[in-house]
Amino acid sequence: MFIETAPPPEKQLTIQDTFRFDCHQGLSCFNTCCRNKHLPLTPYDVLRLRRNLNLHSDVFLDRYTLYRTDPQSGFPVVLLRMSDGADGRCPFLGVEGCKVYADRPTACRLYPLCRVSGYASGSGRLEAFFYMLDPPQCLGRQENRVWTVGTWHTGQGLDPYSAMNDRMLELIFHPRRASGKGLDERQLQKVLVACYNLDIFREFVFSTGFLDRFEVPVNVRECIAGDDTALLDLGLAFLRKALFPPD
Ligand code: SF4
Ligand code: SF4
Repeated sequence: MFIETAPPPEKQLTIQDTFRFDCHQGLSCFNTCCRNKHLPLTPYDVLRLRRNLNLHSDVFLDRYTLYRTDPQSGFPVVLLRMSDGADGRCPFLGVEGCKVYADRPTACRLYPLCRVSGYASGSGRLEAFFYMLDPPQCLGRQENRVWTVGTWHTGQGLDPYSAMNDRMLELIFHPRRASGKGLDERQLQKVLVACYNLDIFREFVFSTGFLDRFEVPVNVRECIAGDDTALLDLGLAFLRKALFPPD
């Protein structure tokens, strides 16, 4: 999760801390929670979901997301669009649970934890910690299965998500981003395309002089033709230069 205000130290969990949780179909709360959520999607979340659904990224964004601009950073915030109906359900919620489970977003994998990362003001290093979400209606917290934060993180397949999400944070919290100054419209469009709309970014990269201008090595050119993660990697590197050019 991209937030800059840390919860109080006593609420922060380290990778070794333990908690009790289990979620299964035998609980009366099963399938009641994936509704009315403010669910931000990171670029890597979008990459995985649209690949799961085998949709063009433009179609995925149009059909399943909403977009806002973060008032502090000026960066886009892409949200999963919940149903307009009374129950506000997630479009991927099925009778037996999540229909995109293998590629569910970061926030869904983390739950009941929340991961906070950002640059520490003292050390200037990117740091992350966790804290527990504890909504009373979630009966999973009363189950007896015990996890460490670390085993939960790895077991939920979060390692590649956190790695890519932190790459995005390096942009958002870049030391040369003037505080209080948001992105202008052109910069905003660059971020939206290079991070979230990867099919359009791929078309742009291969149909303009981008590869030569940006001196993309031949082996990377071969990779990005079919590998979305490599393309997102390139997109993030491109944005770093485009938004914060060297003096
Ligand atoms: S245990 Fe919690 S996460 Fe699982 S279905 Fe119930 S409310 Fe949702
Ligand atoms: S993506 Fe899956 S786990 Fe996440 S809110 Fe939707 S149905 Fe629930």
